[in-house]
Amino acid sequence: MANKRRTTPVRKGRPTSKSSKHLYFFGNGRAEGNRTMRDLLGGKGAGLAEMTNAKLPVPPGFTIATTVCTLYYEHKGKLPSAIEQEMRVHLKKLEAATRATFGSATNPLLVSVRSGAKFSMPGMMDTILNLGLNDTTVEGLKKQTSNGRFAYDSYRRFIQMFGNVVLEIGKNAFEHELEAVKRERGVKQDPDLDEAALREVVTRYKRVVQTHAKRGFPQDPLEQLGLARDAVFRSWQNPRAKEYRRIYDIPDHIGTAVNVQAMVFGNTGDRSGTGVGFTRNPATGAKEFYGEFLINAQGEDVVAGIRTPKPIAELQTLMPATYKQLRDITTRLERHYKDVQDFEFTIQDGHLFMLQTRNGKRTGYAAVVIATDLVAEKLISPKQAVLQVDPEALTQLLAPIFDPKAWAAMPVATKGLPASPGAASGQVVFTADDAVEWTRQGKKVMLVRKETVPDDIHGMFVAQGILTATGGMTSHAAVVGRQMGKPSVVGAGALDVNEHGKTLQIGKGISLKEGDWLSFDGLTGEVKVGQVATKASEILQVAHGELKGQKSDIFRRFNQLLTWADSFRRLGVRANADQPDQAEIAYGFGANGIGLCRTEHMFFGEGRIAIVQRMILADNEADRRAALNDLLPLQRSDFYGVFKAMRGLPVTIRTIDPPLHEFLPKREELMVDIARMEATGRNGHELEEKRALLKRVEQLHEFNPMLGHRGVRLGITYPEITEMQTRAILEAACQLTKEGGKAVPEIMIPLVGDVRELRNQNAIVRRVADEVMKDRGVKVKYLVGTMIEVPRGSIMADEIAQEAEFFSFGTNDLTQLTYGFSRDDFGKFLNSYREHKILERDPFVSLDIEGVGKLVDMGTRKGRATRPDLKIGVCGEHGGDPPSIAFFDEVGLDYVSCGPFRIPVARLAAAQAALREKETD
Ligand code: ADP
Ligand code: MG
Ligand code: MG
Repeated sequence: MANKRRTTPVRKGRPTSKSSKHLYFFGNGRAEGNRTMRDLLGGKGAGLAEMTNAKLPVPPGFTIATTVCTLYYEHKGKLPSAIEQEMRVHLKKLEAATRATFGSATNPLLVSVRSGAKFSMPGMMDTILNLGLNDTTVEGLKKQTSNGRFAYDSYRRFIQMFGNVVLEIGKNAFEHELEAVKRERGVKQDPDLDEAALREVVTRYKRVVQTHAKRGFPQDPLEQLGLARDAVFRSWQNPRAKEYRRIYDIPDHIGTAVNVQAMVFGNTGDRSGTGVGFTRNPATGAKEFYGEFLINAQGEDVVAGIRTPKPIAELQTLMPATYKQLRDITTRLERHYKDVQDFEFTIQDGHLFMLQTRNGKRTGYAAVVIATDLVAEKLISPKQAVLQVDPEALTQLLAPIFDPKAWAAMPVATKGLPASPGAASGQVVFTADDAVEWTRQGKKVMLVRKETVPDDIHGMFVAQGILTATGGMTSHAAVVGRQMGKPSVVGAGALDVNEHGKTLQIGKGISLKEGDWLSFDGLTGEVKVGQVATKASEILQVAHGELKGQKSDIFRRFNQLLTWADSFRRLGVRANADQPDQAEIAYGFGANGIGLCRTEHMFFGEGRIAIVQRMILADNEADRRAALNDLLPLQRSDFYGVFKAMRGLPVTIRTIDPPLHEFLPKREELMVDIARMEATGRNGHELEEKRALLKRVEQLHEFNPMLGHRGVRLGITYPEITEMQTRAILEAACQLTKEGGKAVPEIMIPLVGDVRELRNQNAIVRRVADEVMKDRGVKVKYLVGTMIEVPRGSIMADEIAQEAEFFSFGTNDLTQLTYGFSRDDFGKFLNSYREHKILERDPFVSLDIEGVGKLVDMGTRKGRATRPDLKIGVCGEHGGDPPSIAFFDEVGLDYVSCGPFRIPVARLAAAQAALREKETD
């Protein structure tokens, strides 16, 4: 059923905040949750539960469900006492599982507090480690481990994280004190600070808290825990998190879970450490164990880019047994989840602990490589491969690459880590805000930062590429860059970035300033100064016939995946293409036909606009026909080219649609020209022409051109235009047929709201078509149909279907006219609509299923009630949007049509829609 579907499928089966269980325990080989409970436990909580059940070494803990986040907001920041009670019960359980006691002076339980929504969200709260430490328990920890350095290192980290995240004290305030102590003691690296130095740091940190938060550092562990938990809930609504959700279409209402987990320590000495990794290379998809670690470190040290981590291969030499255990566990995880895993681990005194696992984010390139490899390894079926790849990711494979010759000719300025592939060339900017501003001015920018933070996300989104000086392959810039499919190079150590002065030094020799051109290759990490021409990716080269498909590994995989997709999809995928060259690309990408060929786009070709203007300026039918006669051969040859490119697949051609003034010069420009000519005393023929043009432009002026004299209304007042276009279409089809080719024209009349409009045009089309076919002595099968794009068209679809052999929903205009939102002015208020939660997404990008979708559904039913074999498609922008495609599949349309470059996306999305529909049936 069309109308039961929502734009956000996540709402389905969502637990309500009223159910009574809110906390879920995991530990000692058993968990109350599992992998299927991501709605409730968040991704992290579900993963911890699943790993615990699989008997992997996971420190015990409990997950506070997402429903509690909702309750937190419903109760204005205070949780019901029943939940506080449930917390205490779970804490007792955790104490039993760890044989340690929260707040104990001799054997203290320490925990981490970790946020975790259903979808991983880098915009949210940072994790707090070592919670439970205070002036007393730190001494207990020291005695217990006989390691005062470790105990005070943990305490100072805790104050720092808690101060920053919960009490919202700037990181710099703490960094400043740490640096001061290091300087005073002549120490370079954090691990070189001894116990005495760290005690000093703790004292100073507590002073920082007192000054900034106007309160002492909370000593009661229960208070610490409550405050940390609430900070996680609050972070759900911070601006970074909201921005992230906006970009990735994550609904606002789902909330986050909180994980409270017993600590394990990677900072107890040289037999300890922490790291992150992937079971395969997330940038290229190559089957290689991939990751980084730091010895004697804790938590975020690896991703924060403070110290440069070591490649995971070195762990094999340092701790061979632990390395082997890690490989075994992660290989098991990959087989279990049947997908690449992104994992986090900590080693405490040689013992391995798993702290997180999830399906790894990857580039579009890697996604295709991995999916095809997993099928080859028989880990998944072709169907699962089709479901595994995000259709949008395919667009990355079409992204430009450098012209290899031009690139090779330039010297390498420096090299960084190849975090996300793709060629990027842009003008250097140093802040996210500048990136946005320059892009608004139409410039291409390269965002260069020391390191990126979640606050930079809007700038990263618009930049051509992201380049950072510090951080590893799993730093923020790398992770986010890969996910956005944005070329990124990180950790280019030779860069000296001065973000305030807006200058950049590369090594000793090169200095750049804001606005200078810089380029890099995200696949190799090479950075070069200057601008480099980019060129089509291998896939595009194959589509253009410049490269043999068999010669390109990535094309073969891409093609394989889409061939599998084709075997599952029900919907046809056609292209919106106006010219023969676009039709060629569409065919190359596997289009099943042309769903929309806009004839007026042909009017803008070389030397044509003058003829079109002559036609428009004609004030009598004879002159108009003369001009149309000149247009006829031009249109005919275009149609011939499109038919030929499509090799016998159907081609839907729309008769003229836009208001005529779009083909004429602007009124203001003409007035300026005329005034100038008059002022310089020039008159004569040219001035007269301009005056005549201005007069006609003024005659054609409309107050609401989009609701004015356009579409079928033009064909009714100027039947000779419809005649000429029909003649051009049929003559081209006859010609190709005579030559032994095949053409399947579908003539489409736009903007019909009344069956009589279509009857009028249908009669003209059929009369002219008969004439042409008789004249040429060839028979061509053709259809006459209409676009359904004014609401009345949907409402009266049963009548309209009497005259139409096919419908094509023009969802752009249908959205415009259903909402009454002008497409051209909508941008001015879209953002406030989003802020006020009136619209979650742009209805011109993703179909408004609940509203406009009803008209599509109704038009389809009514149309088919009259004519059961009515062919129905859609040709708005929505034809290339995966969630909209899922809806069109459900409604039972025959095909979707989208821009040529969206065809791969649509083929995959259509297959997913069909497969998912089967699942829910
Ligand atoms: P993020 O969502 O940013 O990855 P996590 O909650 O996974 O945040 O925490 C980040 C890091 O903190 C983890 O990779 C791990 O190294 C460390 N960490 C979290 N919980 C614990 C714990 N219980 N013991 C030791 N380290 C932990
Ligand atoms: Mg984090
Ligand atoms: Mg993590």
